Amino acid sequence: MFVINCPHCNEPREEEEFHYEGEAFIARPAEPETQTDAEWGDYLFMKKNPKGWHWEMWGHSAGCRKLFVVKRNTANHAIDGAWTLTEARAAYDAEMAKI
Ligand SMILES: [Zn+2]
Repeated sequence: MFVINCPHCNEPREEEEFHYEGEAFIARPAEPETQTDAEWGDYLFMKKNPKGWHWEMWGHSAGCRKLFVVKRNTANHAIDGAWTLTEARAAYDAEMAKI
C-alpha cells in the first residue's frame, strides 16, 4: 500500500482511492490511416513494464474523479511526484531532456 498526493485535491490519500489508468505519454500515430495492423497492435498493446521509475496515469476514483500523472518506482512504490495533465508534460519533457 502506498499514498498518492492527488494534485487536484492537494491531499495525500491511500492508494485504494485511486485506479491505475496505464502508461503516460504514449504518442498516438500521427497518420493513423497509414499504420499497419502490426503497428496498431504495438500502439495499443505493447506498453513499457519497467522495474524502476515509470510515468503513469492515475484516476482519483473515490475523490475528485480527475486524471493525473504520477512518476512511481515500480520496484518499491516510491513516488517522485504527481502532476495535473497540463503540468505533467513539462515535467516529463524536462526529465527526458536530461537523458
Ligand atoms: Zn483528487
